[in-house]
Amino acid sequence: MEENQATVRGSIVMWGKIWDIQKVGSEEAFQKLLLPESAEIREIFQQPAILPMTKYPARIYCQMYEFTAKNFGAQAFQEAAAHTAFKDLNASMRFFMKIGSPAFVAKRFPQSWSHYFSAGTFSILKLTSNTMEAALDGAEVYGLGGCQGTIGWTRMALEYAGAKNLQIEHPECAVKGKSRCLLNYKWS
Ligand SMILES: [Zn+2]
Repeated sequence: MEENQATVRGSIVMWGKIWDIQKVGSEEAFQKLLLPESAEIREIFQQPAILPMTKYPARIYCQMYEFTAKNFGAQAFQEAAAHTAFKDLNASMRFFMKIGSPAFVAKRFPQSWSHYFSAGTFSILKLTSNTMEAALDGAEVYGLGGCQGTIGWTRMALEYAGAKNLQIEHPECAVKGKSRCLLNYKWS
């Protein structure tokens, strides 16, 4: 692996596999679904244990997005990312999210992004008690999974912290030719 290659943390791959298996009902059914996929991704998902600390190339994340969208629908990756983020939280992080406000939790998003993704940044452009404007820069290497996954995990975190009627808009997308991904959040 090249040293400057963009990567994702293994915990995303591990919880992604668990979400897929729950969705299809068994490991066997999941492996059957993987048959048309690349040898590289099949080999990763055939491993009995995926280590959370291992770094995987961004293209594996992109393939996971394509696989999830193809088999479970366009919105499914947001669900899978929300599940992954929730399962990967430890008890003390859950506690601080539960007692914190949505805006308090949102302040941690830039660090959360950098914890899981080696390339790109999540920036908060504006934050109030019930709105947030954010941008993803340099994350195109993660494809649509980068922004769709982010919509999923940030939604989970904000709702867990008490955000109601959460609306998330993605008016500009770097994967679709804009200079950065813009994400606008509004809740009550
Ligand atoms: Zn985008």
